[in-house]
Amino acid sequence: MRVAMLTAPRNIELREVAMPEPPPGGAVVAVRVALTDGTDLKAYRRGHPQMPFPTPFGHEFSGEILALGSGASDWRVGEAIACVHSAPCGGCFWCAAGEEELCESVMERKILGAYADAIVVPQHILARNAFRKPEAMTFAEAAFLEPLSCVVHSRNVLAPRPRSSVAVFGDGGFGMLHALLFARDGHECVLVGRRPERLALAASLGLATIDASANDVGASLRERTGGRGADALVECTGTAEVWELAPSLVRRGGTVSFFGGLPAEANVSFRAARLHYDEVRLISPFHFTPRAVAEAFALLRERAFDCTRLISHRYPLDRIVDAFAALDSGIGLKAAIET
Ligand SMILES: [Zn+2]
Repeated sequence: MRVAMLTAPRNIELREVAMPEPPPGGAVVAVRVALTDGTDLKAYRRGHPQMPFPTPFGHEFSGEILALGSGASDWRVGEAIACVHSAPCGGCFWCAAGEEELCESVMERKILGAYADAIVVPQHILARNAFRKPEAMTFAEAAFLEPLSCVVHSRNVLAPRPRSSVAVFGDGGFGMLHALLFARDGHECVLVGRRPERLALAASLGLATIDASANDVGASLRERTGGRGADALVECTGTAEVWELAPSLVRRGGTVSFFGGLPAEANVSFRAARLHYDEVRLISPFHFTPRAVAEAFALLRERAFDCTRLISHRYPLDRIVDAFAALDSGIGLKAAIET
């Protein structure tokens, strides 16, 4: 089978490797659709501390069960599967506390390598965070389970009151998914971005937008919120500039949610008086819980919104080099790699 390996910055090799054996309780899944995301693009451009070269990559995918390990009796070969790339252990301090997104082994036992003909889904994921893909759900839709799980967890941590004003900063895939979810939940949501083609896409999805390159965003938000500022702001740009700006853009008593991570060495600063006297709350949701995965699957099953509109390009696996070269040069939003 073929597997795409990231061997150095901006260098992908499609290698031929032996088809893996399914582990006990796990499965080998033939990948049908794998989606690119911002983390993959960052790793492609400059490497990733948790993914030393050479590394397989890609973690948003759906497919069909090719082979099952002993004991994986809930599944059948040939079944279509929607799953995420991690699952909590269920036994550590954080799992016991209900903070499964922080499980001490969830990151080290995650799987990468969806840009391949097949990927091994181990027992802990198959048992906890995998679903049978209904016939009516496309493989492309099912591949959104992982990013949508992150966004559902983010929404659950923020837990806005009904009909809140929510400003989502960032016109990438995660910004779009947040805005679609908040709009679907009935909030007054606006997406703040800079790229005309992405703002046009957001508008065509029924989202309100603010072009940050042409407007005073603070003034625009105040205008939309009776002069107060947004009830909540979700930071999805992953830039220190927006992190530091964000607390000034919510109302007194508002909440800033830092979803977009910064480089490990980054430091940011905030004006203490703003946080204290105006009771601005800062939160930073990370990853997801099995509850969020189940909720994300339900959203996909009921087609709460059409995630697949975020797919800008489709490529066969043997053109993955072209897919990343295009994304690297700023073309497209999310590519679907199809096998
Ligand atoms: Zn755990």
